[in-house]
Amino acid sequence: MKIIDIIKSDKPSLSFEVFPPKTSDTFDTVKEATEKIAMLKPSFMSVTYGAGGGTSEYTVSVAKNIKDNCGVDTIAHLTCINSSKDDIQHRLEALKNAGIENILALRGDITPENKDKIRFDYRYASELVCDIKKYGNFCVGGACYPEIHPESKDQREDIKNLKTKVDAGCEFLTTQMFFDNNLLYNFLYKIREAGITVPVIAGIMPITNAKQIERAIKLSGSYIPQRFKSLVDRYGGDPKAMSQAGIAYATDQIIDLYANGINAVHVYSMNKEYVARNIQANISEIIK
Ligand code: FAD
Repeated sequence: MKIIDIIKSDKPSLSFEVFPPKTSDTFDTVKEATEKIAMLKPSFMSVTYGAGGGTSEYTVSVAKNIKDNCGVDTIAHLTCINSSKDDIQHRLEALKNAGIENILALRGDITPENKDKIRFDYRYASELVCDIKKYGNFCVGGACYPEIHPESKDQREDIKNLKTKVDAGCEFLTTQMFFDNNLLYNFLYKIREAGITVPVIAGIMPITNAKQIERAIKLSGSYIPQRFKSLVDRYGGDPKAMSQAGIAYATDQIIDLYANGINAVHVYSMNKEYVARNIQANISEIIK
């Protein structure tokens, strides 16, 4: 099923992101973890893609397994920064052959590890969106940044570029993680004003250990509210308490989002079944 048809319905959706293995040694472990999450029957699941293309085939096989063997619709992420036009055509062929109908089209991060491998067939995700739409029949989504993409000069420029991406054929957007819902509400107001009308899926990252928060800030530059800092200060040293507090914080964010009319929530579950299960249980009456 096309993701746009799931998130356009009035029913609140709850979906989970998982990541594929980096090497074949861990394939079975990852497969098992993603299957356990799929058993929760979320609205859909997304499978990430390694920036260097290292996990491209695993993204397809994990997404296909979830769809075919667990009956859960999937989105495969696809990045383009290290790919030639031919590479992308082959990947689209593989996705089509696997019966995957949804793609999250991304540029990919420029990192010290991959910067020498960057090709210039694609400079921005919008160019990838164009090629996927030309290829045909995929539902295509893109990423957006309530707190601005780190490379953008300012929010006005970032939203202008986002509009180009949507005009290229993005049917929905998924946000970077954020820990203060007001940031999303302000962002939505601004993008609607800029003429971006596609549905936006809110990306929520439950922080279940203190280390994760450092990584999350480094990766996304997200603002951490004092309320959340206090929670990490108080429970960061106690893994079980931190996990419970992090899940409760994410649950609180999600309930506030639904209450304010954001119907589609995507949880960055990091392949942790207990995180996905607990969040789903906490809002079972709300999403029924
Ligand atoms: P773009 O939309 O191309 O934007 C990148 C930058 O270029 C922005 O600053 C934008 O404003 C600017 N820009 C865009 N168009 C133009 C233009 N025409 N002229 C000038 N400037 C322009 N990475 C992975 O490697 N694998 C994943 O699976 C993955 N999944 C993700 C899922 C989500 C929901 C999010 C939010 C991010 C994900 N990422 C993933 C990270 C993503 O690849 C990086 O954030 C990357 O730096 C930008 O990707 P993008 O698709 O948003 O790029």
